[in-house]
Amino acid sequence: MTTGFISDLHLDASRPAATEAFLGWLKGPALELERLYILGDLFEYWIGDDDPDEHQRQIRLALSAYTKQVPRTWFMPGNRDFMIGPDFLGDTGLQLLPDPTLIEVAGTSILIAHGDRLCTDDISYQRFRRFSRHPLVLRFYRSMPFFIRRMMVEKAQAESQSQKRDKSAEIMDVNQDTVVWMLRRNRVHTLLHGHTHRPGEHNFDLDGRAATRIVLGDWYRNGPVMLWDDSGRRVETLAF
Ligand code: MN
Repeated sequence: MTTGFISDLHLDASRPAATEAFLGWLKGPALELERLYILGDLFEYWIGDDDPDEHQRQIRLALSAYTKQVPRTWFMPGNRDFMIGPDFLGDTGLQLLPDPTLIEVAGTSILIAHGDRLCTDDISYQRFRRFSRHPLVLRFYRSMPFFIRRMMVEKAQAESQSQKRDKSAEIMDVNQDTVVWMLRRNRVHTLLHGHTHRPGEHNFDLDGRAATRIVLGDWYRNGPVMLWDDSGRRVETLAF
């Protein structure tokens, strides 16, 4: 009865070792899970469900085989792959989750999120986030030919790289007031998210009770998987 959590795999054909580790894990240890939550940025970028890329096709097939055995597999979009649409979800059998979502794991209510919404010090990013996820914007984007979308994604990636260099580390981390606001609003004391690539655990007091913010790690150097069951939670790391 173990629940698994992963995020920020940033799978990309340019990093085949990470993809190989993920696919191997799906075919082996991950089959023991009762539930799996993929909390965003599974892919480095997403041009569209119609992408003919071979690397993506492999992952699609592997996920489809996996969800046939572990149907309780959820996907919450990240800032890199929020364009994932109904075709991909239908093919893979992944169930879409809104950000944030309240779930129960081993008797504890926890709020799960990708994490980018918590980085409210980054005002220009939050503005872009609201714009880019508007249903009309998404519909317009998806209506464009594939090669145009590919050009747009490449341009956006280059811009985000140069902006990241200009923004301070504090601006790109979560804002504690936003964390507290989100926990209060959902009446929980535990938050689990990815996105910041700063794995760890932060304990603080929230209205007289102990609160915890757990951050998942990325898959750049190895593959951290959080496992949570009645005996507690731990991180198992897949070597590349
Ligand atoms: Mn992210």
